[in-house]
Amino acid sequence: MQIERIRIDKATFDMRDFAKHPTGFSLVYEPGSRKSVSAYAVRIYTDEGVVGEYVGGNSIAAAQVDMFGRYLIGKDPFQRERIYNDVKRQLRKFDKMGMGLIDIPLWDLAGRAFGVPVRTLLGGWKTRLPAYASTAAGDRSGGLDSAAAYADFAVQCKELGYRAYKLHVWDDYDVPEVVRTIAAVRDAVGPDMDLMLDPGCKLETFAHAVQVGRACDDAGYLWLEDPYKDTGVSLQGHRRLRELIRTPLLQTEHVRGLEQHIDFAVGGGTDFVRADAEYDGGITGALKIAYATEGLGLDVELHTPGPAQRQLMASIRNTNYYEMSFVHPKSAEIGRSQAVYADGYRDGLTAIGADGCVPVPDGPGLGVSYDWDAIEAHTVETREYR
Ligand SMILES: [Mg+2]
Repeated sequence: MQIERIRIDKATFDMRDFAKHPTGFSLVYEPGSRKSVSAYAVRIYTDEGVVGEYVGGNSIAAAQVDMFGRYLIGKDPFQRERIYNDVKRQLRKFDKMGMGLIDIPLWDLAGRAFGVPVRTLLGGWKTRLPAYASTAAGDRSGGLDSAAAYADFAVQCKELGYRAYKLHVWDDYDVPEVVRTIAAVRDAVGPDMDLMLDPGCKLETFAHAVQVGRACDDAGYLWLEDPYKDTGVSLQGHRRLRELIRTPLLQTEHVRGLEQHIDFAVGGGTDFVRADAEYDGGITGALKIAYATEGLGLDVELHTPGPAQRQLMASIRNTNYYEMSFVHPKSAEIGRSQAVYADGYRDGLTAIGADGCVPVPDGPGLGVSYDWDAIEAHTVETREYR
């Protein structure tokens, strides 16, 4: 089988009631506003009629595909390891995010060719995945705007079935307010819900990270993720932080590549390893990180929701939770993800069952059907490689 043609449609969708925070870059609740979000819809066509599909990505990834799109033409779509290694070298001066935008549809293509879900190709067995409610960033607009609001929303998530809840706090944070919020959420949900904190690298100083980390210690949080403005990449800084707090750290969301992830973990910079099915070289790259992490005796936690993440997580033993990102008490919006599926697949606050889990799609490939009419109706730009 050979790759004959690749088509990438850039589609834009409106996200209601969210806007960029003026003092930072987080997407925060702002009733009445609209934010345009883009999705890159990839179709890989072969000479035997099998097509691989995936919708995701970002503008940087799409720009990188331009550096190797032509190389893929004529290649065997099942030789993902060869493609991974060739493209990795081609993108060596960059963050390599473009790899995932091609690798994921290649896995979809393989699953469709063999008539099985990607999970089966990976040796997977899980059919339901426990999810955590991962909040949107804090706002000052009547949503997640106080310790009490975060606590109330945690209780709501617990009642929906979630077994775990992760707070993303304010861009214009104040350490005492964050410390109060950490405690208030624990007090509200009791001892049985796993709690995590992700400041998203907003804390200005290492001292703030220590203060917030100690509050997580007192409240028995499961992990602290990307606390401060080194942007999550300082191995030395996080090794020192691990000596000063008891809460496990979850790092490497902003460290790109297999080797860099493992260097960071071996160097003592993190307890949990982060992998992203898109950012880290697709399913192929994230799987390498998961296996390498297993070899260190540690757990890998996958970033963000989506069908590729579900298929991948279904095959990994050393992982705990599916991240249901961007949940918020006043809005069911989860960006573009609702508008692109034709088969009822969805992520979002209410996309879990009473058991707190999401299902792993069991159709061939990624197991989802995209709504190509809707995607094409929102398409603003098309690129083709042939
Ligand atoms: Mg994060």
